[in-house]
Amino acid sequence: MKESIKQLKPYIPEEPVSALQARLGVERVVRLSANENPYGTSPQVREAVLKYVTDHDSSQYPDGNAGSLRTALAKHLNVPESSLVIGVGLDEVITMLSRAFLTAKDSVVISTPTFSEYALNAQLEGAQIKAVPCDAVTGAANPDGMLAAIDDTTRLVWLCNPNNPTGTYCSVSAIREFMRQVPKDVLVLIDEAYIEFVTSTDSASALPLLAEFGNMGLMRTFSKAYGLANYRVGYLVLSPELSNYVQAIRLPYNLNSVSQVAAEAALQDQAFIERVVAANAVERRKWEACLDELKLHYYHSEANFIFVEFPTAEKAQYVADYWLQAGYQVRSGLSPKWLRITIGQADDCKKMQILLKECLV
Ligand SMILES: *Cc1c(COP(=O)(O)O)cnc(C)c1O
Repeated sequence: MKESIKQLKPYIPEEPVSALQARLGVERVVRLSANENPYGTSPQVREAVLKYVTDHDSSQYPDGNAGSLRTALAKHLNVPESSLVIGVGLDEVITMLSRAFLTAKDSVVISTPTFSEYALNAQLEGAQIKAVPCDAVTGAANPDGMLAAIDDTTRLVWLCNPNNPTGTYCSVSAIREFMRQVPKDVLVLIDEAYIEFVTSTDSASALPLLAEFGNMGLMRTFSKAYGLANYRVGYLVLSPELSNYVQAIRLPYNLNSVSQVAAEAALQDQAFIERVVAANAVERRKWEACLDELKLHYYHSEANFIFVEFPTAEKAQYVADYWLQAGYQVRSGLSPKWLRITIGQADDCKKMQILLKECLV
């Protein structure tokens, strides 16, 4: 066995909702622990998938280049088709990048807390992880600290924006300032899994910076705002030269045709995204008002979840259990005193807020 994987523990995936309902004896469980889309998926996706499976059997390999989806994405983002690497979710993209760029002699720089896959995949390659804590009060990443952590061994810097689990957003001008100071041989990866949910600015994405900085890559997924988590589609935008290296290690037929068809249909329905983003912003504001009223510390979120601190770890677990008994599952275990709550639909948010008040009296 590889030395680098001896210490690793397998990722514990979400328990299927039906299994959880049976285990708890609860009729309806609303999963608000994985930042999935509580508004579902564009109805156009179901139509496209049904048409595809009606017209085709499954005897032929899929289009290994995901040509039609690639063309649609390139047009949507206004980037060359050769700059796109499309993966089985961003999970696969993160694995491919780590595999392509990291050896046991290298290090990566991350902000903590952040999405666990960056560190996990670095460990797989035997690389060192340099974790720079975020600001404890605001949850904001610390770009100067991250710059200071970069040394001769650093190959990759991961910046999740908005960040999971803090929900905090780093402006494009702050990222530009950061990029100006990063050595050109260090690749900075901006994970924009939640970028659609940002409402504080109309131009939230760091996409325009790709033309300025050849050592920057951008990642997006269909799993969150597009409500396509089940079909597993995510992608990377990177200079065509560097994306060739990543393409070289991609499995030839990684994306099945149903996923390709579903993602393309989802991309075409931007009106669905607008509705989801607007509804999420309304409920996010109500959550913040509720937490202010209860004097609970949280980070200002620009995503579809909110990260809340409780006075003690026991209290956090008590609230999580109280919600779960009522059918609301949130994410604990990311940080002892904290819970990450995916922002649900209005009725569910309201019920959860009433339950929370009951817990705290
Ligand atoms: C959910 C999530 C992903 C993974 O998305 P998939 O495309 O479903 O693999 C990537 N990055 C962050 C920060 C996430 O929260």
